[in-house]
Amino acid sequence: MSEFKPVTSHVVKKLRLLLGKENVLTQQEEMKPYSYDEAPLPKPHIPELVVKPRDTTEVAKVLALANEVRIPVTPRGGGTGLSGGAIPILGGIVLSLEKMNRIKEIDEDNFMVVVEPGVLLKDLYQAVESRGLYYPLYTGEKSAHIGGNVATNAGGMRAVKYGVTRNFVLGLEAVLPTGQVVRTGGKFVKCSTAYDLTQLLVGSEGTLAVITEITLRLITPPGWQEVIFIPFPGLHQAIKAVPEILKQAVPVMGLEFLEKDAIDIVEKDLGLELPFHEHDAFLLGILEGNSKEEVYQAATRVAEVCTKNGAIDVYIPMSARARRKLLEAREKLYPALKRTGAIEVIDVVVPRSQIANFVAMVKDISQRYGMPIVATGHAGDGNVHLQPMGRGMDGGEWATKLPRVMEEVYRAGVSLGGTISGEHGLGFEKKKYLEIAMSREQIDLMARLKRAFDPNYILNPGKIFDEG
Ligand SMILES: Cc1cc2nc3c(=O)[nH]c(=O)nc-3n(C[C@H](O)[C@H](O)[C@H](O)COP(=O)(O)OP(=O)(O)OC[C@H]3O[C@@H](n4cnc5c(N)ncnc54)[C@H](O)[C@@H]3O)c2cc1C
Repeated sequence: MSEFKPVTSHVVKKLRLLLGKENVLTQQEEMKPYSYDEAPLPKPHIPELVVKPRDTTEVAKVLALANEVRIPVTPRGGGTGLSGGAIPILGGIVLSLEKMNRIKEIDEDNFMVVVEPGVLLKDLYQAVESRGLYYPLYTGEKSAHIGGNVATNAGGMRAVKYGVTRNFVLGLEAVLPTGQVVRTGGKFVKCSTAYDLTQLLVGSEGTLAVITEITLRLITPPGWQEVIFIPFPGLHQAIKAVPEILKQAVPVMGLEFLEKDAIDIVEKDLGLELPFHEHDAFLLGILEGNSKEEVYQAATRVAEVCTKNGAIDVYIPMSARARRKLLEAREKLYPALKRTGAIEVIDVVVPRSQIANFVAMVKDISQRYGMPIVATGHAGDGNVHLQPMGRGMDGGEWATKLPRVMEEVYRAGVSLGGTISGEHGLGFEKKKYLEIAMSREQIDLMARLKRAFDPNYILNPGKIFDEG
């Protein structure tokens, strides 16, 4: 691990000159919001300094200075991450991208948008939709930055049809920890020119470079969307129906599963009542197509398949309000679980055909350790979200059990051909489990890549893996 230096008054003075006094925070109270993300567990770490550069040149100046004097720098987007990636665990500078929030260009001819990293997801949707275009990914939290989405390769509910963030990133501008600016990719949809540095930076969780501009691919909006909610007598039947639904080649955009525990928690937390809530497990499907007729035909086919696989009923909401209520229950599930005692969020991904086996293995682990684990997730793409709950245990008890439970859960996922994070990233929270999913040779290769980008190890140190 590198020897880091503290932020001195000389550094503060220099940064104030470079960025303006208002863009350099030094007071504990004003830096508190930069000390945590949305992961349930890690303790907050207040940085020594927060800077808010307004353009690429300012980012480059901050990094060059930090590199010269060996101060760690943690890039930060919206702070909605679920693995502690934006937490400055080794102190130093938090580099917030919040002021780099311009939409630079919407290119209607090429179906592309060029943005700064601090653009909020909700603002991106609005801007492109006002021009008749569509960015189809919904990565779960609209206050995330698009830069954070790229840095974590965020996925979300719509991955079944559209894939994940990397599938929409065509080009990047990024600043290396040494202060050099590089541009990768561009406004073209095919590329076989040398190594793909764009895709190396996507998902690198702020450990290789600070992303300062993103070129994204767009599509045309769908003609019609419908939600379908299907109760089952048990989770096993619900999950087993998933590959059967997808084999029908129906236009499924999202396919989520929830168990009764999750429904009970979200109903109580949000004060609402969902249809058929007395049953044990549910699938929530989002279908989209060119016309209402096409989508309704697809919904009928999904209903038939589910009924054959043991579904108790099929509910298609008839009003926009009822549709919204169902989607909101899913979207607000994580905050509700967190408020109700979730002590971790695990996002193992397995081959779709193995979800039922994986969840059965998890239930066994949960029982053996006496630790309730609420299972929800993106059934359509194999990304299972597991929330171990601390209820009924004191802090000491769950703190001892949790790492053992997590290790067993990760081993179970990997044994079925999966990996330990499908969309949240490893950040600081999950890095200790990386060797379950990757060989030493792979980790060493990544460590050599990290050195090539960041010779002094100043950029987001202590994330993804420890320096080899
Ligand atoms: C309620 C809720 C629901 C969620 N649902 C989903 C979901 O369905 N799918 C999903 O994938 N995620 C989900 N998330 C997690 C989160 O929204 C994503 O991880 C998101 O991509 C994080 O973006 P952010 O801007 O908040 O990044 P931050 O949390 O600020 O940072 C995340 C990581 O990216 C790095 N980073 C941020 N910006 C840059 C940059 N410009 N350059 C280099 N590195 C950078 C940080 O250093 C850190 O390592 C959810 C979170 C919440 C709270």
